[in-house]
Amino acid sequence: MGAHTDTCIFCKIVAGQIPARKVYEDDELIAFHDINPAAPIHLLIVPKTHIETLADVRPADEAILGRMMAIAPRLAFENGAPAMPDGGLRVIMNVGPGGGQEVYHIHLHVLAGEPPWRGFA
Ligand code: 5GP
Ligand code: ZN
Repeated sequence: MGAHTDTCIFCKIVAGQIPARKVYEDDELIAFHDINPAAPIHLLIVPKTHIETLADVRPADEAILGRMMAIAPRLAFENGAPAMPDGGLRVIMNVGPGGGQEVYHIHLHVLAGEPPWRGFA
């Protein structure tokens, strides 16, 4: 929990210590473009509180997890995801080394746009 601004890249982005192409921010969440996009639209939705993995989520964190998921379609469509019913998006969370997680501050990947996508599809 809290800020891990010495060691965590996403805590540094939350704190404004390193730049990011932000698309959304409120008291609990921040969303920005992935620096190495795997799809034409690739956003990351990140809680401001430092939670290492989905396996570390506690009951008090459940609301923020819900908000991350619930806001994903809106942010995707606002940032160019093809509209439904034909278009859409994909939301992914990698968990732990075996799940391909590289940054240990939970984040939801939001992918959209015309294929091909790299790595996630
Ligand atoms: P993971 O593999 O942990 O699920 O995904 C980490 C994601 O964070 C990767 O897609 C990677 O490109 C992205 N990423 C890593 N460092 C930075 C950074 O400094 N800024 C931004 N915007 N994205 C980053
Ligand atoms: Zn962090």
